[in-house]
Amino acid sequence: MEWCVSMPKIELHAHLNGSIRDSTLLELTKALIGKGAINFSEVEHIILKYNRSVEEVFKLFDLIHILTTDHNTVARITREVIEDFASENVVYLELRTTPKRNDSVGMSKRSYVEAVLKGLRSITSVDVDFIPHCEDSKTLFTPAPAIDGHARKRIFVRLLLSIDRRETTEAAMDTVKLALEMRPYGVVGIDLSGNPSIGDWTTYLPALKFAREQGLYVTLHCGELPNSKEIKNMLDFRPQRIGHACFFEDEHWRQLKSSNIPVEICLTSNVRTMTVPSIDVHHFAHLYNAKHPLVLCTDDSGVFSTCLSKEYKIAADSFGLGRREMFELSRNAVEYIFADSKIKEDLRRNFNSVAKKYG
Ligand code: 5GP
Repeated sequence: MEWCVSMPKIELHAHLNGSIRDSTLLELTKALIGKGAINFSEVEHIILKYNRSVEEVFKLFDLIHILTTDHNTVARITREVIEDFASENVVYLELRTTPKRNDSVGMSKRSYVEAVLKGLRSITSVDVDFIPHCEDSKTLFTPAPAIDGHARKRIFVRLLLSIDRRETTEAAMDTVKLALEMRPYGVVGIDLSGNPSIGDWTTYLPALKFAREQGLYVTLHCGELPNSKEIKNMLDFRPQRIGHACFFEDEHWRQLKSSNIPVEICLTSNVRTMTVPSIDVHHFAHLYNAKHPLVLCTDDSGVFSTCLSKEYKIAADSFGLGRREMFELSRNAVEYIFADSKIKEDLRRNFNSVAKKYG
Protein backbone atom coordinates (compact mmCIF):
# COMPACT_ATOMS: atom_id res chain seq x y z
CA MET A 1 0.00 0.00 0.00
CA GLU A 2 2.94 2.31 0.83
CA TRP A 3 3.91 3.01 -2.81
CA CYS A 4 0.27 3.50 -3.82
CA VAL A 5 0.07 6.28 -1.26
CA SER A 6 3.35 7.98 -2.15
CA MET A 7 2.79 7.78 -5.92
CA PRO A 8 1.38 11.00 -7.46
CA LYS A 9 -2.21 10.46 -8.51
CA ILE A 10 -5.00 12.18 -10.42
CA GLU A 11 -8.62 12.04 -9.22
CA LEU A 12 -11.22 12.84 -11.87
CA HIS A 13 -14.44 11.36 -10.48
CA ALA A 14 -15.16 12.37 -6.89
CA HIS A 15 -18.54 13.66 -5.66
CA LEU A 16 -18.19 16.18 -2.83
CA ASN A 17 -21.05 14.88 -0.69
CA GLY A 18 -19.99 11.28 -1.28
CA SER A 19 -16.47 11.98 -0.04
CA ILE A 20 -17.19 13.28 3.46
CA ARG A 21 -15.06 11.94 6.32
CA ASP A 22 -16.85 9.33 8.49
CA SER A 23 -16.03 11.35 11.60
CA THR A 24 -17.60 14.50 10.13
CA LEU A 25 -20.69 12.63 8.98
CA LEU A 26 -21.11 11.15 12.43
CA GLU A 27 -20.66 14.56 14.08
CA LEU A 28 -23.25 16.14 11.77
CA THR A 29 -25.67 13.23 12.32
CA LYS A 30 -25.37 13.51 16.11
CA ALA A 31 -26.01 17.26 15.95
CA LEU A 32 -29.24 16.73 14.01
CA ILE A 33 -30.35 13.89 16.29
CA GLY A 34 -29.69 16.25 19.22
CA LYS A 35 -32.01 18.84 17.63
CA GLY A 36 -34.65 16.15 17.07
CA ALA A 37 -34.41 16.77 13.31
CA ILE A 38 -33.76 13.09 12.53
CA ASN A 39 -34.47 9.85 14.31
CA PHE A 40 -31.41 7.58 14.29
CA SER A 41 -33.42 4.35 14.31
CA GLU A 42 -34.98 5.37 11.00
CA VAL A 43 -31.68 5.93 9.22
CA GLU A 44 -29.42 3.46 11.03
CA HIS A 45 -29.98 0.62 8.55
CA ILE A 46 -28.93 2.83 5.61
CA ILE A 47 -25.88 4.27 7.38
CA LEU A 48 -24.54 0.99 8.74
CA LYS A 49 -25.16 -1.27 5.74
CA TYR A 50 -22.03 -2.35 3.83
CA ASN A 51 -23.15 -3.41 0.35
CA ARG A 52 -25.89 -1.07 -0.77
CA SER A 53 -27.84 -1.34 -3.98
CA VAL A 54 -27.83 1.68 -6.30
CA GLU A 55 -31.26 2.65 -4.91
CA GLU A 56 -30.01 2.42 -1.30
CA VAL A 57 -26.97 4.55 -2.14
CA PHE A 58 -29.28 7.28 -3.37
CA LYS A 59 -31.31 7.06 -0.17
CA LEU A 60 -28.06 7.60 1.70
CA PHE A 61 -27.30 10.67 -0.43
CA ASP A 62 -30.69 12.11 0.45
CA LEU A 63 -29.77 11.66 4.10
CA ILE A 64 -26.32 13.18 3.65
CA HIS A 65 -27.87 16.17 1.93
CA ILE A 66 -30.05 16.80 5.01
CA LEU A 67 -26.82 16.97 7.03
CA THR A 68 -24.94 19.32 4.72
CA THR A 69 -27.51 21.99 3.90
CA ASP A 70 -25.87 25.15 5.25
CA HIS A 71 -23.05 27.20 3.76
CA ASN A 72 -20.60 26.62 6.60
CA THR A 73 -20.97 22.86 6.37
CA VAL A 74 -20.49 22.93 2.60
CA ALA A 75 -17.29 24.98 3.07
CA ARG A 76 -16.09 22.62 5.81
CA ILE A 77 -16.62 19.40 3.86
CA THR A 78 -14.93 20.93 0.80
CA ARG A 79 -11.88 21.81 2.88
CA GLU A 80 -11.70 18.37 4.47
CA VAL A 81 -12.21 16.44 1.24
CA ILE A 82 -9.41 18.36 -0.49
CA GLU A 83 -7.09 17.93 2.51
CA ASP A 84 -7.78 14.19 2.47
CA PHE A 85 -7.01 13.81 -1.23
CA ALA A 86 -3.84 15.92 -0.89
CA SER A 87 -2.69 13.84 2.08
CA GLU A 88 -2.49 10.74 -0.11
CA ASN A 89 -0.60 12.57 -2.86
CA VAL A 90 -3.42 13.35 -5.22
CA VAL A 91 -1.76 16.16 -7.19
CA TYR A 92 -4.74 17.08 -9.35
CA LEU A 93 -8.37 16.78 -8.26
CA GLU A 94 -11.50 17.45 -10.27
CA LEU A 95 -14.13 17.69 -7.57
CA ARG A 96 -17.74 17.54 -8.69
CA THR A 97 -20.81 18.70 -6.84
CA THR A 98 -24.47 19.47 -7.53
CA PRO A 99 -25.28 23.14 -6.80
CA LYS A 100 -28.29 23.12 -4.49
CA ARG A 101 -30.96 25.67 -3.72
CA ASN A 102 -32.30 25.67 -0.19
CA ASP A 103 -34.56 28.62 0.52
CA SER A 104 -34.89 27.76 4.24
CA VAL A 105 -31.23 28.67 4.82
CA GLY A 106 -31.02 31.36 2.12
CA MET A 107 -29.00 29.16 -0.18
CA SER A 108 -29.04 29.65 -3.94
CA LYS A 109 -27.13 27.51 -6.42
CA ARG A 110 -24.67 30.37 -6.69
CA SER A 111 -24.15 30.77 -2.94
CA TYR A 112 -23.68 26.98 -2.71
CA VAL A 113 -20.79 27.17 -5.18
CA GLU A 114 -19.43 30.22 -3.37
CA ALA A 115 -19.41 28.17 -0.16
CA VAL A 116 -17.41 25.48 -1.98
CA LEU A 117 -14.94 28.17 -3.09
CA LYS A 118 -14.78 29.53 0.46
CA GLY A 119 -13.86 26.05 1.64
CA LEU A 120 -11.14 25.84 -1.00
CA ARG A 121 -9.68 29.20 -0.03
CA SER A 122 -9.70 28.37 3.67
CA ILE A 123 -7.18 25.55 3.32
CA THR A 124 -3.87 26.31 4.97
CA SER A 125 -2.43 22.85 5.67
CA VAL A 126 -1.68 22.16 1.99
CA ASP A 127 -0.98 24.39 -1.02
CA VAL A 128 -4.00 24.56 -3.29
CA ASP A 129 -4.00 25.94 -6.82
CA PHE A 130 -7.62 26.47 -7.71
CA ILE A 131 -7.74 29.29 -10.24
CA PRO A 132 -6.94 28.80 -13.92
CA HIS A 133 -3.25 29.04 -14.48
CA CYS A 134 -2.04 32.48 -15.45
CA GLU A 135 1.25 34.32 -15.33
CA ASP A 136 0.96 35.36 -11.72
CA SER A 137 -0.78 32.29 -10.29
CA LYS A 138 1.14 29.91 -8.09
CA THR A 139 3.18 27.37 -10.04
CA LEU A 140 2.66 24.05 -8.40
CA PHE A 141 5.70 21.97 -8.93
CA THR A 142 8.50 24.26 -7.94
CA PRO A 143 10.42 22.61 -5.08
CA ALA A 144 8.13 22.49 -2.07
CA PRO A 145 9.32 24.13 1.14
CA ALA A 146 10.06 21.64 3.91
CA ILE A 147 7.87 21.91 6.97
CA ASP A 148 8.94 19.85 9.99
CA GLY A 149 11.09 17.82 7.64
CA HIS A 150 8.20 17.03 5.30
CA ALA A 151 7.50 18.73 1.99
CA ARG A 152 4.15 20.50 2.01
CA LYS A 153 1.52 18.74 -0.06
CA ARG A 154 0.37 20.61 -3.13
CA ILE A 155 -2.72 20.02 -5.19
CA PHE A 156 -4.45 21.51 -8.22
CA VAL A 157 -8.22 21.62 -7.75
CA ARG A 158 -10.76 22.19 -10.50
CA LEU A 159 -14.53 21.96 -10.16
CA LEU A 160 -17.26 20.28 -12.16
CA LEU A 161 -20.87 21.26 -11.53
CA SER A 162 -23.24 18.30 -11.58
CA ILE A 163 -26.74 18.15 -12.98
CA ASP A 164 -28.96 15.78 -10.97
CA ARG A 165 -31.27 13.54 -13.01
CA ARG A 166 -34.20 14.75 -10.87
CA GLU A 167 -33.82 18.31 -12.20
CA THR A 168 -35.76 20.03 -14.97
CA THR A 169 -34.30 21.24 -18.26
CA GLU A 170 -34.43 24.83 -16.91
CA ALA A 171 -32.67 23.92 -13.67
CA ALA A 172 -29.94 22.16 -15.65
CA MET A 173 -29.55 25.23 -17.83
CA ASP A 174 -29.18 27.37 -14.68
CA THR A 175 -26.35 25.09 -13.54
CA VAL A 176 -24.58 25.45 -16.88
CA LYS A 177 -24.95 29.26 -16.79
CA LEU A 178 -23.58 29.24 -13.25
CA ALA A 179 -20.64 27.12 -14.38
CA LEU A 180 -19.90 29.69 -17.09
CA GLU A 181 -20.02 32.53 -14.54
CA MET A 182 -17.76 30.57 -12.22
CA ARG A 183 -15.19 29.67 -14.87
CA PRO A 184 -12.76 32.34 -13.65
CA TYR A 185 -12.71 30.53 -10.28
CA GLY A 186 -11.81 27.11 -11.61
CA VAL A 187 -15.06 25.54 -12.79
CA VAL A 188 -14.07 23.59 -15.89
CA GLY A 189 -17.02 21.41 -16.75
CA ILE A 190 -20.39 19.79 -16.27
CA ASP A 191 -21.29 16.31 -15.06
CA LEU A 192 -24.59 14.48 -15.43
CA SER A 193 -25.24 12.26 -12.41
CA GLY A 194 -27.97 11.32 -9.95
CA ASN A 195 -30.11 8.20 -9.70
CA PRO A 196 -29.78 6.50 -13.11
CA SER A 197 -33.23 4.92 -12.82
CA ILE A 198 -34.83 8.36 -12.70
CA GLY A 199 -35.68 10.56 -15.66
CA ASP A 200 -34.57 10.64 -19.25
CA TRP A 201 -31.13 12.03 -19.98
CA THR A 202 -32.41 13.82 -23.10
CA THR A 203 -34.11 16.27 -20.69
CA TYR A 204 -30.61 17.68 -20.18
CA LEU A 205 -29.43 17.59 -23.78
CA PRO A 206 -30.13 21.30 -24.44
CA ALA A 207 -28.10 22.25 -21.35
CA LEU A 208 -25.30 19.79 -22.16
CA LYS A 209 -25.11 21.00 -25.77
CA PHE A 210 -25.05 24.62 -24.60
CA ALA A 211 -22.26 23.79 -22.13
CA ARG A 212 -20.21 22.23 -24.89
CA GLU A 213 -20.83 25.12 -27.31
CA GLN A 214 -19.60 27.51 -24.61
CA GLY A 215 -16.37 25.56 -24.17
CA LEU A 216 -17.17 23.71 -20.95
CA TYR A 217 -16.10 20.07 -20.78
CA VAL A 218 -18.79 17.43 -20.29
CA THR A 219 -18.67 14.07 -18.54
CA LEU A 220 -21.66 11.74 -18.24
CA HIS A 221 -22.52 8.92 -15.85
CA CYS A 222 -23.15 6.26 -18.45
CA GLY A 223 -24.19 2.60 -18.27
CA GLU A 224 -24.79 2.28 -14.52
CA LEU A 225 -27.94 0.35 -15.38
CA PRO A 226 -28.78 -1.77 -18.41
CA ASN A 227 -30.25 0.81 -20.78
CA SER A 228 -28.92 0.09 -24.23
CA LYS A 229 -30.59 3.01 -26.00
CA GLU A 230 -29.40 5.58 -23.45
CA ILE A 231 -25.84 4.25 -23.55
CA LYS A 232 -25.76 4.43 -27.35
CA ASN A 233 -27.22 7.95 -27.41
CA MET A 234 -24.81 9.16 -24.74
CA LEU A 235 -21.86 7.83 -26.73
CA ASP A 236 -23.28 9.48 -29.88
CA PHE A 237 -23.18 12.78 -27.97
CA ARG A 238 -19.40 12.31 -27.60
CA PRO A 239 -18.80 13.66 -24.10
CA GLN A 240 -15.14 14.31 -23.26
CA ARG A 241 -15.27 11.53 -20.63
CA ILE A 242 -17.77 9.05 -19.23
CA GLY A 243 -18.06 7.46 -15.79
CA HIS A 244 -18.68 3.79 -14.95
CA ALA A 245 -19.60 1.96 -18.23
CA CYS A 246 -20.86 -1.11 -16.32
CA PHE A 247 -23.70 -2.38 -18.48
CA PHE A 248 -22.09 -2.05 -21.89
CA GLU A 249 -22.93 -4.53 -24.63
CA ASP A 250 -20.66 -5.48 -27.53
CA GLU A 251 -21.94 -2.69 -29.77
CA HIS A 252 -21.28 -0.13 -26.99
CA TRP A 253 -17.73 -1.34 -26.48
CA ARG A 254 -17.14 -1.02 -30.24
CA GLN A 255 -18.59 2.49 -30.25
CA LEU A 256 -16.61 3.50 -27.16
CA LYS A 257 -13.33 2.22 -28.54
CA SER A 258 -13.77 3.86 -31.92
CA SER A 259 -14.53 7.20 -30.23
CA ASN A 260 -11.64 6.86 -27.75
CA ILE A 261 -13.66 8.51 -24.96
CA PRO A 262 -11.76 8.11 -21.65
CA VAL A 263 -13.58 6.13 -18.94
CA GLU A 264 -13.56 7.05 -15.24
CA ILE A 265 -13.33 3.64 -13.50
CA CYS A 266 -14.69 3.30 -9.95
CA LEU A 267 -13.85 -0.26 -8.85
CA THR A 268 -15.03 -0.28 -5.22
CA SER A 269 -18.15 1.73 -6.00
CA ASN A 270 -19.18 -0.65 -8.80
CA VAL A 271 -18.65 -3.77 -6.70
CA ARG A 272 -20.32 -2.30 -3.59
CA THR A 273 -23.39 -1.17 -5.53
CA MET A 274 -23.39 -4.49 -7.37
CA THR A 275 -23.37 -2.92 -10.82
CA VAL A 276 -20.43 -5.29 -11.41
CA PRO A 277 -20.79 -8.74 -9.77
CA SER A 278 -17.17 -9.01 -8.55
CA ILE A 279 -13.81 -7.37 -9.05
CA ASP A 280 -12.37 -10.24 -11.13
CA VAL A 281 -14.97 -9.67 -13.87
CA HIS A 282 -14.69 -5.86 -13.80
CA HIS A 283 -14.40 -4.27 -17.25
CA PHE A 284 -11.21 -2.52 -16.11
CA ALA A 285 -9.23 -5.54 -17.41
CA HIS A 286 -10.98 -5.47 -20.78
CA LEU A 287 -10.32 -1.76 -21.29
CA TYR A 288 -6.79 -1.88 -19.87
CA ASN A 289 -5.80 -4.75 -22.18
CA ALA A 290 -7.31 -2.89 -25.12
CA LYS A 291 -5.18 0.15 -24.14
CA HIS A 292 -8.35 2.23 -23.97
CA PRO A 293 -7.96 5.57 -22.11
CA LEU A 294 -9.07 5.10 -18.51
CA VAL A 295 -8.52 6.61 -15.10
CA LEU A 296 -8.99 5.03 -11.67
CA CYS A 297 -11.27 7.07 -9.40
CA THR A 298 -12.99 6.82 -6.01
CA ASP A 299 -16.51 8.07 -6.89
CA ASP A 300 -17.58 8.44 -3.24
CA SER A 301 -14.67 7.75 -0.90
CA GLY A 302 -16.83 8.41 2.19
CA VAL A 303 -19.85 6.37 1.19
CA PHE A 304 -17.72 3.44 -0.02
CA SER A 305 -14.94 3.70 2.62
CA THR A 306 -12.16 3.94 0.11
CA CYS A 307 -9.42 6.31 -1.07
CA LEU A 308 -7.55 6.63 -4.35
CA SER A 309 -4.45 4.79 -3.07
CA LYS A 310 -6.70 1.87 -2.14
CA GLU A 311 -8.23 1.82 -5.62
CA TYR A 312 -4.72 1.59 -7.13
CA LYS A 313 -3.83 -1.21 -4.73
CA ILE A 314 -7.03 -3.12 -5.56
CA ALA A 315 -6.35 -2.78 -9.30
CA ALA A 316 -2.71 -3.88 -8.87
CA ASP A 317 -3.65 -6.93 -6.78
CA SER A 318 -6.74 -7.94 -8.74
CA PHE A 319 -5.27 -7.63 -12.21
CA GLY A 320 -1.63 -8.57 -11.52
CA LEU A 321 -0.16 -5.16 -12.34
CA GLY A 322 3.17 -3.95 -10.97
CA ARG A 323 4.31 -0.55 -9.76
CA ARG A 324 5.55 0.46 -13.20
CA GLU A 325 2.18 -0.26 -14.81
CA MET A 326 0.28 1.49 -12.03
CA PHE A 327 2.54 4.53 -12.31
CA GLU A 328 1.93 4.68 -16.07
CA LEU A 329 -1.81 4.38 -15.49
CA SER A 330 -1.64 7.32 -13.09
CA ARG A 331 0.58 9.35 -15.41
CA ASN A 332 -1.67 8.74 -18.44
CA ALA A 333 -4.59 10.32 -16.56
CA VAL A 334 -2.89 13.72 -17.03
CA GLU A 335 -4.00 13.57 -20.66
CA TYR A 336 -7.70 13.26 -19.70
CA ILE A 337 -7.98 16.18 -17.27
CA PHE A 338 -10.20 19.14 -18.14
CA ALA A 339 -7.68 21.83 -17.17
CA ASP A 340 -5.53 23.75 -19.64
CA SER A 341 -2.33 22.69 -21.38
CA LYS A 342 -0.10 24.67 -19.00
CA ILE A 343 -1.32 22.58 -16.07
CA LYS A 344 -0.91 19.40 -18.09
CA GLU A 345 2.68 20.43 -18.73
CA ASP A 346 3.28 21.01 -15.01
CA LEU A 347 1.78 17.64 -14.16
CA ARG A 348 3.79 15.83 -16.84
CA ARG A 349 6.98 17.39 -15.42
CA ASN A 350 6.00 16.30 -11.93
CA PHE A 351 5.37 12.71 -13.00
CA ASN A 352 8.57 12.61 -15.05
CA SER A 353 10.60 13.82 -12.07
CA VAL A 354 9.60 10.79 -9.97
CA ALA A 355 9.26 8.18 -12.75
CA LYS A 356 12.57 6.48 -11.86
CA LYS A 357 11.22 5.45 -8.44
CA TYR A 358 8.57 3.33 -10.09
CA GLY A 359 10.64 1.96 -12.96
P1 5GP B 1 -23.01 16.14 -4.43
O1 5GP B 1 -23.25 16.43 -5.87
O2 5GP B 1 -24.23 16.39 -3.59
O3 5GP B 1 -21.80 16.82 -3.88
O4 5GP B 1 -22.66 14.59 -4.32
C1 5GP B 1 -23.63 13.57 -4.16
C2 5GP B 1 -24.45 13.42 -5.41
O5 5GP B 1 -23.61 12.93 -6.48
C3 5GP B 1 -25.56 12.36 -5.30
O6 5GP B 1 -26.73 12.89 -4.76
C4 5GP B 1 -25.73 11.93 -6.76
O7 5GP B 1 -26.54 12.85 -7.46
C5 5GP B 1 -24.33 12.02 -7.31
N1 5GP B 1 -23.66 10.70 -7.22
C6 5GP B 1 -22.77 10.30 -6.31
N2 5GP B 1 -22.36 9.04 -6.57
C7 5GP B 1 -23.00 8.66 -7.68
C8 5GP B 1 -22.98 7.46 -8.46
O8 5GP B 1 -22.29 6.47 -8.18
N3 5GP B 1 -23.79 7.45 -9.56
C9 5GP B 1 -24.57 8.52 -9.92
N4 5GP B 1 -25.31 8.41 -11.02
N5 5GP B 1 -24.59 9.66 -9.21
C10 5GP B 1 -23.82 9.72 -8.10
